[in-house]
Amino acid sequence: ITEPQFVEKKHCNIGTIGHVDHGKTTLTAAITKVLAKDGLAQYVSYDEIDRAPEEKARGITINAAHIGYSTKLRHYAHTDCPGHADFIRNMISGASQMDAAVLVVAANDGPMPQTREHLLLAKQVGIQYIIVFINKADLVDGELLELVEIEMRELLSDFGYDGNTVPMICGSAMKALNGDETEFGAPSIRKLLSTMDEYVPPIVRDLSSPFLMPIDNAFTVPGRGTVVVGTIKRGIMKKNAEADLLGFGQNIKTTISDVQIFKNSVPEALAGDNVGVLLRGMKMKSVQTGMLLTAAKSCFLTNHYKAKIYFLTRNEGGRRKPIFSRYSQQMFSGTWNIAVRIDLEPTQQMMMPGDHGEVYLTLLEDMVMTVGQPFTVRENNVTVATGIITETLS
Ligand code: GDP
Ligand code: MG
Repeated sequence: ITEPQFVEKKHCNIGTIGHVDHGKTTLTAAITKVLAKDGLAQYVSYDEIDRAPEEKARGITINAAHIGYSTKLRHYAHTDCPGHADFIRNMISGASQMDAAVLVVAANDGPMPQTREHLLLAKQVGIQYIIVFINKADLVDGELLELVEIEMRELLSDFGYDGNTVPMICGSAMKALNGDETEFGAPSIRKLLSTMDEYVPPIVRDLSSPFLMPIDNAFTVPGRGTVVVGTIKRGIMKKNAEADLLGFGQNIKTTISDVQIFKNSVPEALAGDNVGVLLRGMKMKSVQTGMLLTAAKSCFLTNHYKAKIYFLTRNEGGRRKPIFSRYSQQMFSGTWNIAVRIDLEPTQQMMMPGDHGEVYLTLLEDMVMTVGQPFTVRENNVTVATGIITETLS
């Protein structure tokens, strides 16, 4: 067995999640304050974070602040959303795909409904790494802190995380923001930051899995054949390798005749590389944007998926009326779209605009979609729902 090969990425997407008023925004401001002392961040005040401008992400409006800072080891892009609904939308739309989340829980409250809801969503959208910051430690005694820690470990285990090993840091974002250097002040923030550096492994490109590349474009080179263009998502693509071109109900066997990076032929290309690939014997009319080029026999096509979905409210441009099973519309993902039928959980009669939950998707044709892949649903070119694939069903 060979060790998987990985390429490092210097960057990590992180975010604060947790119940309203537990201190997410104060913590975000405190992080920049503590790092600003070392010249690793620009201090961003509480008000600046909370007044984050609205952004349009995949057809829906989300209020979110994106703050950049560095530790000695890494660069972070940190997302903090002002309202509970913004967190839900941000996570379900995959607008800022978090590699890890800092779950903030106030020691005087313990876990609350939104703590549970954010944790559930984090699991469903595939966030692997959670770090718990038990905030407002200045308000309670040591015994209560221990109790909250126990409760949080149980909750994490309930939602499929390893409750025993998730790091927990006790502190006070407010004290840290006020420049306090005692245990629960700035030192607790430094502890959080070093935990982020250590616990969340470098975000890696997967070079050991069979290669996979979504097709962005295709063209014909006279005398040579069909060239497909895209960015390799995972694996290593080698010249002369056998491959499948998959999507829209098609599974076409082919061979990689040539791989080019910046118009130069190379023996192989890696995850993250943007390439042009000459496919042996491929007809231009067989290729469609949105198909995948994969290592032979490594992926399978299906038209059944489970997804997490959010229906936009009327104010957000969404539907006025409820959604029932057998709801059929056009689904958009990446550069392609296809007709889809949406069925609710059998126990659920309907969903209302503004609701989120799990649904079953049946696509008109077989596609390859991966867990975590975001999509939208549109009615007459208007976005009415946004979602993320949570499971592939056969
Ligand atoms: P968010 O809704 O999770 O973003 O919470 P905020 O950061 O807006 O904080 C909510 C309230 O809790 C504010 O009044 C903060 O000043 C207060 N707060 C935040 N952190 C602490 C803390 O460590 N100790 C105390 N006592 N209050 C805090
Ligand atoms: Mg906030």
